[in-house]
Parts: sequence; C-alpha cells; structure tokens
Amino acid sequence: MSINVEPLRKVLELEHNKDYADSAVMGGLDKFLRHWTGQATGSITDPRLLNRFHKLRLVDSNYASLIKEQRKQWVSDVLDFLTEIERTVAEKSKVEPSPITSLPSPKPKAPRIASDQSIDSPITVIRGISSSMATKFDKLGVKTIRDLLFFFPHRHLDYSQTKHISQLTEGQEETVIANVWQAQEIRLGGRRSTEAIIGDETGNVRVVWFNNPYIARNLSANVRVVISGRVGLFNGRLVFESPEWEIVNDKELIHTARLVPVYPLTQGLRSRHVRKLMKEVVDQWAWQVEDFLPPELKGRCDLLELPRAIGQAHFPEDATLKDRSRVRLAFDELFLLQLGVLSRKRDRQESQPGSPFSIEHPVLDTFIKSLPFELTAAQQKVLSELLADLQKSQPMSRLLQGDVGSGKTVVAAAALIIATANGYQGAFMAPTEILAEQHFTTICNLLSRAGRQEDTEDYLHTYSGLLSHPLTVALLIGDISQARKQELQQLILDGAVDIVIGTHAIIQKGVEFHRLGLAVVDEQHRFGVAQRSELRQKGFNPHALVMTATPIPRTLALTLYGDLDLSVVDQLPPGRQAVKTKWLNPRQRDSAYVFLRRQVAEGRQAFIICPLIEESEAIQARAAVAEYRRLSEEVFPDLRSGLLHGRMSAADKDKVMRHFRSGELDILVSTAVVEVGIDVPNATVMLVESADRFGLSQLHQFRGRVGRGQEQSYCMLLAHNPSEVGRQRLGIIEKVQDGFQLAEEDLSLRGPGEFFGTRQSGMPDLRMAKLSDVGLLELARSEAIKLFQIDPALEKPEHKLLTKELAQVWQKDAEVS
Ligand code: ADP
Ligand code: MG
Repeated sequence: MSINVEPLRKVLELEHNKDYADSAVMGGLDKFLRHWTGQATGSITDPRLLNRFHKLRLVDSNYASLIKEQRKQWVSDVLDFLTEIERTVAEKSKVEPSPITSLPSPKPKAPRIASDQSIDSPITVIRGISSSMATKFDKLGVKTIRDLLFFFPHRHLDYSQTKHISQLTEGQEETVIANVWQAQEIRLGGRRSTEAIIGDETGNVRVVWFNNPYIARNLSANVRVVISGRVGLFNGRLVFESPEWEIVNDKELIHTARLVPVYPLTQGLRSRHVRKLMKEVVDQWAWQVEDFLPPELKGRCDLLELPRAIGQAHFPEDATLKDRSRVRLAFDELFLLQLGVLSRKRDRQESQPGSPFSIEHPVLDTFIKSLPFELTAAQQKVLSELLADLQKSQPMSRLLQGDVGSGKTVVAAAALIIATANGYQGAFMAPTEILAEQHFTTICNLLSRAGRQEDTEDYLHTYSGLLSHPLTVALLIGDISQARKQELQQLILDGAVDIVIGTHAIIQKGVEFHRLGLAVVDEQHRFGVAQRSELRQKGFNPHALVMTATPIPRTLALTLYGDLDLSVVDQLPPGRQAVKTKWLNPRQRDSAYVFLRRQVAEGRQAFIICPLIEESEAIQARAAVAEYRRLSEEVFPDLRSGLLHGRMSAADKDKVMRHFRSGELDILVSTAVVEVGIDVPNATVMLVESADRFGLSQLHQFRGRVGRGQEQSYCMLLAHNPSEVGRQRLGIIEKVQDGFQLAEEDLSLRGPGEFFGTRQSGMPDLRMAKLSDVGLLELARSEAIKLFQIDPALEKPEHKLLTKELAQVWQKDAEVS
C-alpha cells in the first residue's frame, strides 16, 4: 500500500486553522480531494479502511455544501482516518500482505436527491421501495425516510475479523475472503439448494445454502466472495452452512467482513434486502439529518455528530464507534425527555400559580388524634413534606412512594382534609372500582371516628363537627346509575361535595369541580401521564399528589416522573412480619389446601388467585367462575367462599368485598383484580395459581394482600413447569420481601421495554437508552437544567433546531403538557 497522506493532512490542518472557511486550497477542498483520491484509490486494500474510506465520501466529497459544524466533524474524521492508514501501513510492512485477502477499492456513486424529496418524504420515494413494501414497513412504525434512519438494528453480528481458510474452527462464526472454484445447484434433503467450493491460498472449503438454489447463479467460477457465518462439520470436513455472502466488487461490503446489522423484521421483509436498502438510505440521507444539539454541549459531553451517530448505529466501522453512536442516540432520548418533563414542571409552577393552603387548622389535629394507631415516623415525615408543599403558591407536584402496606392512604386523607378546611375540594382517584370503594369506606371510617356521622346515603356521606360546614364525601364510579351520577356531578359542580373518591370516572367529561384544590392519584403506575394531567386540569392548577406502591429505581423515577418531587414512606407500621413465601409444584396442591383449611379453622381468611389467562377479561372471568365452582363445590364445600372478577358489576364486587372484609367469607377466589390495594388484615393465606405467569412486582402486590395484621402470614405459589425466567422470578420472590429490591430485580429480568411504551402513553420512545444508563441519564438531566438556566424559554436562535425537535418528540403529548 503506497499512499501519501501528508499533503491531505497539511491541507486539512490548514483548513482547521482557517476556521473551516474552505479556503485552505485554491479551488476548494472538494477539488483537491478528487485529485488526492485519484492516487489513493486502489492503494487501500484493508477491508476496514476501505469501508471507512467509502464512508467518508472522499471520492465524491461535498465539503462546500456542509455547514461549519459538519465541516469540523468531517475534517476531524478524515484526519483520524489518515492516522489509521499510516498505522495500518506500518503494521502491514511488518507482515507481508496476502494478496487474496485484500479487496479492490469501492467506487461509490454520488448520491442523487431529487429536489422535491426531503427527509420527511414517505419512504416510497426511495427507489426499490414498492407500496407493498411500504405497508410492511408501516407495520414496523416506519413511514418516512426519517423514520427509516431511526429504524435501528436490534443487534450486530461481528464478522469483522477475517480469517484464512486454514484457520477456520468448527462451531465458530467466521469470515473468509476467497475465490469461487465452482458453484452449482444441488438437492439437500429433497430441497433445491446451492453448493460451492471456495478457496484461498491456504486451502479450500465447502459452502452450502439450504433451500436456496438461486445463489448458484450468482457465483460463477473465479468470482471473489466474502463469506461470513457459522462453520459446521459434515462427514468430518468443515462447511459453511447458509452463511451471509457477498461478491467482492467496487461496492462497500454490507453483509460480510464487518459489524453486520440485524434488523427487526416483519413478515415479508427479507433481512438481506432490508440491509441493502438501509445502507443506501443511510449513505444518501443521514447527512440530511440536522443536528439539534448545541455544539458546545456536544463538545462538553464528547458526543458524536448526529448524522455520524446514525450511520454508525447501522453500519459501524468498529465496536468503539458503535458504542459511541449508541451513547449519542441514547443521550438524545434522555435529554429530550428531561427537557420535556422539566419544562412541564416549570410551566406549571411559573405560569399558573396554584392555591396556597393554610395548614394551621384544628381539624388536622383532631383527625390525627382520632386515628386508631400512631403514625409511623415515615408517615409523619412525608406528611410534613406534603404540608410544606401545600402552603406554597406553586402547586404541589409530588410522587409518594411506599411499599405495599406502608400506610399511604391515611397520609393522603390528611392532605385531602386540609384542602377541605381551606374551602377547596379534593379528588382521590383509584385505578379500580374495588379500590375506590375501599378508599371510600376507609376514609369514611376514619372521619366517623373524628367527627359525627350524619344521615348517609349510598355514595354520599356527611360528617359534622370537623369544619364550619358539614364535610361531605362522595363516591363516583362508572357503575352507578345514570341518574345518581348526574346528581353527584351536580353536587360536585355546586361545591356541595368536599371530597370525591372514584375511578377514572372522575376525569370523564361532565365532571366539573366547583373549586378543586388537591388531586390525589393512587397506584400511579397504572395511569398514564395523560390521565394524571387531565385530573390536574379539572381544577385551577390544583396541588397534585400521585402515589405508587411500586418502588421505582432511581433511573426510572427520573425518567418517567422527572417532573415530580419525591417522598418515600420507607417504613412499615409496627408489628408486620415477613410473609412466609413458598413455591410449590402442582403435586403439592392438596397439601396447600390442607394448610389453607387449617388457617381458616384458626379463624383466619384466605385468598386464592386464579390462573392468568391473557386473551380477554371475559375469558378470564369465565375461567374464574369455573375455578370458583370447583373449589366451592369439590374442595371446600363446607367453607364459605366468594368470587371476585373484573366482569362483575360494581355492586356485586362491593358486596363480596364487604362480606370478605367483615369475615362472612373464609375464602376469596379472585382474578388479578385483587392485586391492587385491597386491605383485609385478618387474611393470612394466599394461594396463587400459575404464579410463574405473573411478573415480580405483581406477585409482590398480591403478597401484600396478606401480612397486614399481627398474625404470621403465608403465600403459596403454584407453578407447573415454569420457564427459565419464571423459575428465576419464583426463586427471587421466595427470598426477597423488600419491594424496592424486587422492582430492581424485575427491571433487570424484564428489561426497560416493557416499562415504557403502552403504560406510559404520551412519553417519547426510548429505543437506545437503557435503564442501566444511570450516568448518562444524570448527565442528560444536568445538561437540561443547564440549558434552561441560559435559555429559560428555549428561544435563542442557536436553540431553534432543538426547540423544533422537542416539539416533535413530545407531539403526541402536546395537548396535556
Ligand atoms: P398502602 O400504603 O399499601 O396503600 P394502606 O394505606 O392501605 O397501605 O395501609 C395498610 C394498612 O396499614 C391499613 O390497614 C392501615 O389502616 C394500616 N396502617 C396505616 N398506618 C398505620 C400505622 N401508622 N400503624 C398501624 N397501622 C397502620
Ligand atoms: Mg394503597
């Protein structure tokens, strides 16, 4: 290899010194490059260098049209490349290069972009994408060229190391560059297939492609090919089995001898085809993506340019660049997310002042003194954090985390009472009707200890002696009669109701508050961002408290709830014991029943959770009915059992729950609806059928239904032949009681994908960021904060692209932000 890199280096260094004005050489850099590449082309033989050479577009460079930032990056990339060439030349001069493993130079074609095409054009403008193919891409969420650029491979095959044929090892993924000696169609297992013999100077090897006779036509004798794939053994001899293959010509390698992208595919899209297409699209369009990050931020955080990061995410030159590209793209996602949540927080706090409450009101003392227990230190601490927020004119925005059974409800109740004492209304939203009813009962019970209960109607209770006016609590759920609902809605609108407890019926159309001052959302993880914003919008910027029993790892909390302040009830009420948890195989079902029966004989109660059937709520309900019949007629005919499932009317659910709570039932057979929040302290046994089908956090929630009283409690998990992951989960839940630790384990087992997406509708997608990116997330957050400090409204001209990108990413959510 004889390339004189010096002239180009000198020019580029000069160009750098002249601040990228394209004035280093007469006639411009592009012209100079044509000249330089003329002598360099053909001299570069190493496949990796060649790929890079092509990548950098030295042959058909378009420096003149780049903006300064792009020029700067490009010059620095080319300088890196020149250094690389020198290093390789130095190494090669030690080892005699083998002629057969060197490749001729690719002659890249200049990109041609029609003037009416843009990066936001539909993908059908790309040659080679038919409308039927576009439909398939549509299924993958890809509509425009931009989408395609951001359609990243889910992994790469590492075919970057080439070997000689004599060095091949059975069972490995290997790459060789060789000549085709012969290629023909053969029959393998009755299937038309291709067989080829290829060779380099160290030997020959057989290659077969099962079920694909067409390749034979493309491989004529003496053609040079690159083969990448698994090496197997057949009749004692090595053979490549259906490897990736590519003819060596003047094009850059795509499928072989590099890090090869593997794309998520859908029916009818062939991986080879998609890869080829992606290569063209990336080469032609990645440069058109505008880099929205401010340059000094990129410099400070050492991030790749966006177009380069996109290119490297698809067809990386090496593992280091692949990682750097992921870092850049993941940073973008996290940074935009942080900008979004922080700007929401700021909007809420600055542009819309809330209502400051006075917290010096005797009702708070009366309420706390009347409780049947002392608040734990953790509850007191959290309550004082809430009270401090409520006094401010900035509306509270707080996430209250606390493990199952830590006593969040009573803290929320105290805050709601303060709201009413200030002449405002409070709303308390729960994810299920059962839970809403339970909260209604709980809060009414607490209030009746503190005040005097007046005449009560269903759904509406009134207490005197607490405030200057009677305190009225209403239950609003979807299941009540239309007439009753309208009546309640009118009372809420008139301000005759002080506290409304309900399901998402509360946020539906038709519900207007007279003066909403505090919105509490229970079991936040079940609601999307959109729903919590809707509740907030029911009032004049009310204080908001969201509660969750799912302890969320720090990364996730900052990601999903970055706009909220955080309080944690990190202590359980005294006297709680660990729930003894055991994983049983189905053969032990009978002894589980015997155990359950013994607990009931001692006056305790039991839950039996039905197997999880995914298809539909209706099928689930039918299965629960059958299981209930079997249990109540065959297994426990002498005990009192009740049934609970999602398809029952609210009234029926309520009846069963009431019976269970009051001890009129011994056993509650239930579907997963019982997961959230149900509180029956006398229940000490839980039996979960097909426990391996549930996630860790969900099992933890189930288990939290027992162990709420003073008695030792038990959780029995039945699992028939669980999968590997199921096995791991069961092993973990047997040992670990702490919800926070379980959530961490759950995340690492499930991966972030399932945490984002559907549940958190309205959030921008995270494709590249991982939950383990704690450092990167913190960097993104601190950069977002910095940016708001220098440009609070994001209106400086240098942030124009960023503002645009932000709007685009958060578009889906625009109406609630
Ligand atoms: P979660 O935080 O899971 O919503 P709850 O608010 O339902 O928990 O409370 C769980 C149980 O603990 C309830 O029966 C409640 O009455 C009881 N509880 C709450 N606080 C205390 C306390 N300080 N001392 C004793 N029991 C408490
Ligand atoms: Mg709760």
